[in-house]
Amino acid sequence: MKLALIGFGQAGGKVVDEFLAYDAAIDGGFVETAIAVNSATTDLHGLENVPQRNRVLIGQARVKGHGVGADNELGATVTEEDIDEIQGAIDRIPVHEIDAFLIVAGMGGGTGSGGAPVLAKHLKRIYTEPVYGLGILPGTDEGGIYTLNAARSFQTFVHEVDNLLVFDNDVWRSAGESVEDGYDRINREIVERFGLLFAAGEVDEDDDVAESVVDSSEIINTLKDGVSTIGYARETVDESGGLLSSFRDEEGFDEGEATNRMTSLVRKATLGRLTLPCDVSSADRGLVVATGPAEHLNRKGVERGRQWLEDETGSMEIRGGDYPLSDRDEVGAIVLLSGVTDVPRVDQLQEVAIEAQETAETVQANSQDEFASLLDTGGEIDALF
Ligand code: GDP
Repeated sequence: MKLALIGFGQAGGKVVDEFLAYDAAIDGGFVETAIAVNSATTDLHGLENVPQRNRVLIGQARVKGHGVGADNELGATVTEEDIDEIQGAIDRIPVHEIDAFLIVAGMGGGTGSGGAPVLAKHLKRIYTEPVYGLGILPGTDEGGIYTLNAARSFQTFVHEVDNLLVFDNDVWRSAGESVEDGYDRINREIVERFGLLFAAGEVDEDDDVAESVVDSSEIINTLKDGVSTIGYARETVDESGGLLSSFRDEEGFDEGEATNRMTSLVRKATLGRLTLPCDVSSADRGLVVATGPAEHLNRKGVERGRQWLEDETGSMEIRGGDYPLSDRDEVGAIVLLSGVTDVPRVDQLQEVAIEAQETAETVQANSQDEFASLLDTGGEIDALF
């Protein structure tokens, strides 16, 4: 499906930059336009692939291009004030060509955390196309303020978008990695999962003919509302597999192997590491996408995987289809789970955020008392005016 991607804040911009690289690499064609919005000039300069004219600096009057720090209330304010600047870039999008908007933001910071929900609300008011969010949760080691920001942003963002796709940095960290290297790797993991999903709905006539191609309307119907998470599993197939496989097809004994492989990949994708871990049975809807060389994909494999997911989730709304990718030696399964409600990480985020909020209130009250006592002279000294 064709998307207008809007990266909000540093993380949002970097992920959108990576989406552009990925879209070009797989010849996916799912990015119609990419825009980056930030209150920090340096972050916008650091981008590589987002066109210069699509980089929008907001909040100049207040923060002079220096960013809003981790103040997401200020992030929301400057977005409201400069919404026309963002709209200026959006006006250049051929909206009739897109299937949806996708706003990407790190939820623990300031600009993206505060601004993304404001932009979502604005877009929903103006356009009929669905507006999705891709929210990145901070690591648990980032501290209380990031957690509090994320909890508040989550609460707001989820109500302003048609669906909030979530990626939890915490689950994807690796020990012994610098933060920068970690983000580079994590960003590639993000765009591969979400990119393959969106590219799946963008198969054109020149592409390999799939047995049952995923249509963008199936993605849109799966992303009807709520919160979503994605699982992905892949397996290398024998280089000679294509030839062997078509030969075997004639003999009629390749079908079983491909079917078993796909069923097992769907299981691994669902029960392995999700972008947002959750209790799978709490999902309302799902979509299974089989990826890889067309000769390795078969309808029965997707159907079995789909049925297995129906049993696992207890949902009757599990869709399935193919996304053929030629010149690859991998077969994969993407599992999109939508409308998930049993998400321990969100509960934990909210608990820590409540604690952080209480601590912040106590600290502020104490410092007000201490400041008052610093100036207290028992009424002996008068201020000038
Ligand atoms: P903003 O510029 O004020 O919106 O804030 P940032 O985007 O810099 O940071 C918000 C949060 O996003 C941080 O707390 C991190 O959890 C996360 N983050 C920052 N940079 C990246 C990145 O490149 N990739 C990922 N996955 N997360 C990031």
